Amino acid sequence: MIIVMSGDASDQQVDAVVNKIKGFGLDVNISRGTERTVIGAIGDERKLDAEMFDSMPGVEQSMHIVKPYKIVAREWHKENTVIDIKGVKLGGNQIQIISGPCSVETQEQMDESAKFVSESGCHLMRGGAFKPRTSPYTFQGAGVEGLAMFRKAADRYNLPIVTELMDVRMLDTFLEYDVDVIQIGTRNMQNFDLLKEVGRVNKPVILKRGMAATISEWLMAAEYIAAGGNHNIIFCERGVRSYETYYRNMLDITAIPVLKKETHLPVIIDPSHAGGKAWMVPALSRAAIAAGADGLLIESHPRPCEAWCDADQALSPEELKKLMGEMAGIASVIGRTL
Ligand code: PEP
Ligand code: MN
Repeated sequence: MIIVMSGDASDQQVDAVVNKIKGFGLDVNISRGTERTVIGAIGDERKLDAEMFDSMPGVEQSMHIVKPYKIVAREWHKENTVIDIKGVKLGGNQIQIISGPCSVETQEQMDESAKFVSESGCHLMRGGAFKPRTSPYTFQGAGVEGLAMFRKAADRYNLPIVTELMDVRMLDTFLEYDVDVIQIGTRNMQNFDLLKEVGRVNKPVILKRGMAATISEWLMAAEYIAAGGNHNIIFCERGVRSYETYYRNMLDITAIPVLKKETHLPVIIDPSHAGGKAWMVPALSRAAIAAGADGLLIESHPRPCEAWCDADQALSPEELKKLMGEMAGIASVIGRTL
């Protein structure tokens, strides 16, 4: 961190800043110019915060010179991280499509879903048993029974399962049902206590972007998980809130190359919650793959118009199959497989 003192800062004010830095166990380098004195903190500057110095007398401005995140940063880990989900590799050359319904409804719906998701060529399945709904009066998810239905249906087709954890009290139940990938939804991206808890388990985590989160906040949220020891984190961009009402959320395709530069962890895209309409999903999916996404999270349903949740954005089995073919074409153009 660098602290720039104002032109008229006194020696006492410089000393106060130096002592504060030393109090955190860091060393200092003082550079006295003709107009300004600049103090550099030497050591792990992540312990320091600009706010600590900005309010001190004589300080003009302070700034970090290294990234506030470390474990998730590509700076510290050059190679792409490939996450192994029961033998399915996410983050390597093969692009992974995770599909399934928004929510687990019935055993029959899950059996049908697992069948067509597998037959369309997907290697992972999604489905929410605990749903974060805007209204408390709408379907809240099938709960633990839903996890059982999901597990049973997916096991028949050897599909690892992805499902959302909202409440830390359900974590043990998720482990009991051997949930393969824990999804942290957009509304919980900065639920730091939840992030710390999933950081302590040995399960891959899909961390969705908060609907109004900056990329830096998102990386810091991932760092919370990583700091607990769990480095199996997958970033999922699902669109951010914008002024536009035509679609549900604004898909930030730009986040893909930015994250690929900033982190070694895999990046996937959820075109369903971005567009909010099934007819937009193919275009957004193709764009995401062309832009370098490592995977996609796509909602589908055996009969979309009967879905209990997010019916408008669910692809039918036929639509998913067609899209898989289109995505395979784009993947091959950029030297990847599906
Ligand atoms: C979901 O994937 O079912 C979901 C609720 O997504 P998000 O957290 O992105 O809204
Ligand atoms: Mn949904």
